[in-house]
Amino acid sequence: MIDKVEKSMCTGCAGCKNICPVSAITFRADSEGFEYPDIDMAKCIKCNLCEKICPILHPVKSDNTSKPDIYAAWNMDENIRINSTSGGIFSALATQFIQRGGLVVGAVYLEDFSIVHTMISSIDDLEKLRQSKYAQSKIQDIFKSIKDELSKGNKVLFCGSPCQNAGLRNFLRKDYENLYCCDFICRGIISQKVYHKFLNDVSKKHSSDIKNIQFKNKDFGWNRFSTKVSYKDGSVYQLDRFTDYYMVGYLKHNLYLRPSCHNCHFKSLPRVADISLGDFWGIANFDANLDNNKGTSVVIVNSQKGRELYSWIKNDVYSCERTLDEVTKGNSCLLNCAPAGKYREYFFKNIDKTDFIDLINKIDKKASKVPMGEKAREYITVVKNHLKR
Ligand SMILES: Cc1cc2nc3c(=O)[nH]c(=O)nc-3n(C[C@H](O)[C@H](O)[C@H](O)COP(=O)(O)OP(=O)(O)OC[C@H]3O[C@@H](n4cnc5c(N)ncnc54)[C@H](O)[C@@H]3O)c2cc1C
Repeated sequence: MIDKVEKSMCTGCAGCKNICPVSAITFRADSEGFEYPDIDMAKCIKCNLCEKICPILHPVKSDNTSKPDIYAAWNMDENIRINSTSGGIFSALATQFIQRGGLVVGAVYLEDFSIVHTMISSIDDLEKLRQSKYAQSKIQDIFKSIKDELSKGNKVLFCGSPCQNAGLRNFLRKDYENLYCCDFICRGIISQKVYHKFLNDVSKKHSSDIKNIQFKNKDFGWNRFSTKVSYKDGSVYQLDRFTDYYMVGYLKHNLYLRPSCHNCHFKSLPRVADISLGDFWGIANFDANLDNNKGTSVVIVNSQKGRELYSWIKNDVYSCERTLDEVTKGNSCLLNCAPAGKYREYFFKNIDKTDFIDLINKIDKKASKVPMGEKAREYITVVKNHLKR
């Protein structure tokens, strides 16, 4: 059964939960907040389907190429580009997909800002899927819904992390002509417990509720992206990638990635998905004209279906061919796993009893020769008028 998978390898893709014919598997969070399958032995009929489709135990079979087509690209709709995490290529793909009668599945915020995967069929709902949400999205029963739609003959575009794509492909157990898969270059995933702890603690200094969250916001430019939490009274928490407490813990100190992310099976090439998206970090070193600080995506086309998808958006995006070498020079996460940080254990030992900001400050002081500058650490609190401006 699925409990054969070592905990440190389980990605939480939820394929096992979705395949179980008697709903004997639920997902439960551990003390770090990462969810793992839990089998109700009273319900289990020992069919072993959960084990048979696990992408850790049984790698996904794929004909995708390890020599994909590579492009630098961005959405020509300036507003969509600025409001996307990278170059807005996902929105271009999803728009065309929906216009051709398809359904799109991706990650959205719920009212309490928890993150789940959902399915949409209308362009009006696309805004909810746009932008990276920096915690592990809950798959819930969405794989079953995708299978239902595929069986009815509907086209589905699934977008999620590489491990979620692998989970879906193995769950389906056969190739569907009408399924298109999109993943992203992934540094690794954070638990929703850590994410909510961050939100709660930065929100203590604000006297109203959260209105909106944007990771990799581009107010300071794409290269110096920021985390922006906007509150209903117009106040804002906004710090750049070098000083935002969440990103310092994630990018600088590797404090809270899911354990399986340190030994990810789904990085590298060939990819499981038909098309992979990411940030084309460092593209200016090869051609300065390709970085105007508004977001340049790398598009990795891994299969014939990926080629078909990409051809649909050719009138909606600027795109030029680049090389894999250029991608890996600036974006090591395509091929390499981030190691667990020295203070990972310390972080989780203290997360329940220490304020998030205090904990990151403490770790940053312990770890860094050059801690986050006091000045840079101050909140940039922007009032309503400034926001409007
Ligand atoms: C956790 C995480 C880590 C990432 N790490 C890297 C990295 O190291 N290097 C890099 O180049 N790019 C990384 N990316 C990808 C990058 O941030 C962009 O998502 C990607 O380049 C697509 O950008 P876009 O502008 O085309 O579309 P966007 O509109 O920004 O893309 C949104 C798409 O991503 C999906 N999505 C958003 N959040 C999640 C989530 N939590 N789980 C699953 N799917 C989600 C949405 O469903 C939607 O389909 C990461 C993304 C995430 C969510």
